[in-house]
Amino acid sequence: MPLNFDNSYARLPERFFSALPPVAVANPGAIAVNRALAAALGFEADWLAGPEGTAMLAGNLVPEGAEPIAQAYAGHQFGGFVPQLGDGRAILLGEIVTPEGGRFDLTLKGAGRTPFSRGGDGRAWLGPVLREYVVSEAMAALGVPTTRALGCVTTGETVYRDGVHKPGAVLARIAASHIRVGTFEYFAARGDEDALAKLCNHTISRHFPEDDTALDLLASVTAAQARLIAAWMSFGFIHGVMNTDNCALSGETIDYGPCAFLEAYHPQKVFSSIDARGRYAYANQPQIALWNLAQLGSCLLSLIGAGEQAVSEAQAVLDGFAPAYQEAWLARMGRKIGIARANPGDRVLIEALLNRMASEGADFTRTFRGLSTGTAAQEFADPQAFETWAPDWRARIAREKDPEAVMAAANPVRIPRNHRIEEMIAAAVAGDYAPFHRLHAALAAPFTPAESFADLEAAPRPEERVARTFCGT
Ligand code: AMP
Ligand code: MG
Repeated sequence: MPLNFDNSYARLPERFFSALPPVAVANPGAIAVNRALAAALGFEADWLAGPEGTAMLAGNLVPEGAEPIAQAYAGHQFGGFVPQLGDGRAILLGEIVTPEGGRFDLTLKGAGRTPFSRGGDGRAWLGPVLREYVVSEAMAALGVPTTRALGCVTTGETVYRDGVHKPGAVLARIAASHIRVGTFEYFAARGDEDALAKLCNHTISRHFPEDDTALDLLASVTAAQARLIAAWMSFGFIHGVMNTDNCALSGETIDYGPCAFLEAYHPQKVFSSIDARGRYAYANQPQIALWNLAQLGSCLLSLIGAGEQAVSEAQAVLDGFAPAYQEAWLARMGRKIGIARANPGDRVLIEALLNRMASEGADFTRTFRGLSTGTAAQEFADPQAFETWAPDWRARIAREKDPEAVMAAANPVRIPRNHRIEEMIAAAVAGDYAPFHRLHAALAAPFTPAESFADLEAAPRPEERVARTFCGT
């Protein structure tokens, strides 16, 4: 099965990566292939689901035209700079050019040790692989820019984590690219001006071909992040590890580690077990994105120009983040309450609802969806908190043409709920993949109510609530 590879990143200078193949696994076992995505990429889904496809997804068969590499990058992790991270357990097989002329990285996550592995084993276990598969595909179905899951396999090997042997797995990930803020930081930290210029040109031609300069690139990435974070916020998504190495220049959500969707709404909500100080709390995400963009800006300064002038130009671009984010947030949150084109005056109404949701522990997804079904008040510990907000809202949407349709398209019925993900993983570890396939199917059409998925639409009972998530690397 010929795949149409054209590996532009592998043509960059050698110091951008380390060329090496994935490390073969003992016994590849098919779990899932994403047939629709395979077809869009120009693959035969049947081939991908067959023995050769399974071997490729496991890293046991390097397809013709691939030039496997591990990419070099650095990153700020929880605010502290690490000058060398890199793909410690991911191998970029190459870039697939689609029949429509799109270009996507095909990466295997959990593909074995690389020169960037540091102390790690280069592998992944089944839990995080299935979690990323389900959540990234759910995000795509919600319309949020994201990397995608092409397929996943078991390795027939075990991985040792937290004192326990767990089943090994590999995730095949598709991304517009894996260029991160941390990729720029890697070269900036080394004072490698030549590499920065080449990376800047590469990123522009790949993601923002209408741009000319480093300043244009900064502006485009800033706009893309503003849109992305507004989308996250509107679905209650908490990324959990917004380190600069997990911030993609393409504007896609990348690296689903300890991510989680809000259930009982609270702006300071944190799930990640490693985020002890709440740096990446729900409400902090916009300012963290801006912080990450500022790191990108400082990497680009020498390409933007000289001295104070470059700093003030970069600063002016970064100053555009807040208004762009606010505008995108208002548009999305407005639609969630039935306003097709919210104006700045509508912000008070939206914030009043959110404040009440926070103090009454209302489920984020169910409250917004409940606006259409008349069940929103039930989500509040004290329904009066909703009932006293509702008259202003009803008066406002009385001026709208079709608020029901607007809300139905903005408010999902189903999100990947944390307890359902954990159940699905526990079942898979025990050899039962039915809950994985069911969850994935349910989340493929997140805006469509379905009796048969009622259990996936319900909020967790108190004893089902998941308080902590783990990156599980
Ligand atoms: P992440 O938390 O997945 O964004 O990963 C942060 C860094 O740790 C990246 O450089 C990863 O490649 C590396 N890493 C994570 N898990 C492993 C592992 N099991 N083996 C080697 N490197 C890893
Ligand atoms: Mg990462």
